[in-house]
Amino acid sequence: MDEPWARGARSAWITLDASALAANARALRAVVAPARLGGVIKGDAYGHGLAALLPALHAVTDVLYAITAGEALAVRRWEAAAGAPRRELLVIGALTVEEVVALARADVAVVLGDVGLLQAAPALREAGLVAAIHVHVDSGLGREGLSPDDLRAALGGGALARVADAMRVEGVLTHFADTEDVTEQAYAHYQLARFEHGARALAEILAEEGLPPVRVRHVAASAAGLVLPQSRMDVVRAGIALYGLWPSRETRISARQVLGALPTLRPVLSWRVRSQLVKTLPAGSDVGYGCTHRCLRDTRVAVLPVGYFDGYPRALGNRAHVLVRGHRAPVIGRVMMNHVLCDVSGVPGLADGDEIEAVLLGQDGDETVTADMIAAWADTIAYEIVARLPAHLRREVRGALPESVPTPA
Ligand SMILES: *Cc1c(COP(=O)(O)O)cnc(C)c1O
Repeated sequence: MDEPWARGARSAWITLDASALAANARALRAVVAPARLGGVIKGDAYGHGLAALLPALHAVTDVLYAITAGEALAVRRWEAAAGAPRRELLVIGALTVEEVVALARADVAVVLGDVGLLQAAPALREAGLVAAIHVHVDSGLGREGLSPDDLRAALGGGALARVADAMRVEGVLTHFADTEDVTEQAYAHYQLARFEHGARALAEILAEEGLPPVRVRHVAASAAGLVLPQSRMDVVRAGIALYGLWPSRETRISARQVLGALPTLRPVLSWRVRSQLVKTLPAGSDVGYGCTHRCLRDTRVAVLPVGYFDGYPRALGNRAHVLVRGHRAPVIGRVMMNHVLCDVSGVPGLADGDEIEAVLLGQDGDETVTADMIAAWADTIAYEIVARLPAHLRREVRGALPESVPTPA
């Protein structure tokens, strides 16, 4: 990234630990087996950086789930270039007809989230392609998917049979609305019943029309995969947990109950920045926009060239700390677009003019700043903290790249 506008961001970088990713995949497999392990790569691999992490993600999962055609085709291009085997790949987001054709050509399955997808049949026919489709049942999230009650009206009566030369129903799925925010899974049980109702209607339609039955059923994301055994089915679509973050505090409490012991999840991502300037401000100085912090005594300040443009939330002003040489350094004043100031007076052995490295997210000595801590300071969830890390931050991959696991057919 050599564009001048990204210059400041060059001082900040993200390190991705491939060994941690492999360990998370092993830990999750131990929990969800015999279900297969799927990896969700949407949102630029949860902000981690798909381009950098794809070789590792590809190696440790059996199936990859993308939200856009672009992500899925990027996986296919990488596989071709690297000589890697083709992973089973599914796009769970909405698509244009052109995208459905391109994906079918690349052997990527697509989701039927509404009947509009059937309109891709003529273009597929023309191209001599048969798209693998997974029918999404809206069991209670209210996002994409056919309501179980409408499924027969939408897909029965010959609707699937008429497109059978262009579309083959391979899978059926749903997505939970309320598995992370609770320790009682009442709504998930309701959704499982609704899903079964929809899956049964689909199975009946396929049988009536002499079409092959569904091959794969998948409903669980990370939280359900961990705490709701009956949701694991054929594949668990693991996103956040694969990246080493817990979906929520409630999921962690439930997992301890359900599994007896907690699987160890290791955060894959850490984030550092090199200081722009270390200097001492005299007692009484005001710091940052709005003068929201006043130094009570002579204060050694590190100016860090990273700000909300780079994904460090503005809400962290006067709330967060970063780590410098294993010590906490409080963020003082407001977070700016390209700068953060922190108080490094408590860091031993520093002098004005030194260049330091600050850990914004990650471990330093005995201290750790987690994505959950940043999320709590910013009044949000860890998903948002990592997913908003921008593409312009440099990514480094560390740790042994795991060996590719064989994918059972
Ligand atoms: C994002 C997403 C997932 C993964 O969710 P996590 O909580 O990150 O594991 C799974 N399935 C669907 C449909 C999703 O949109």
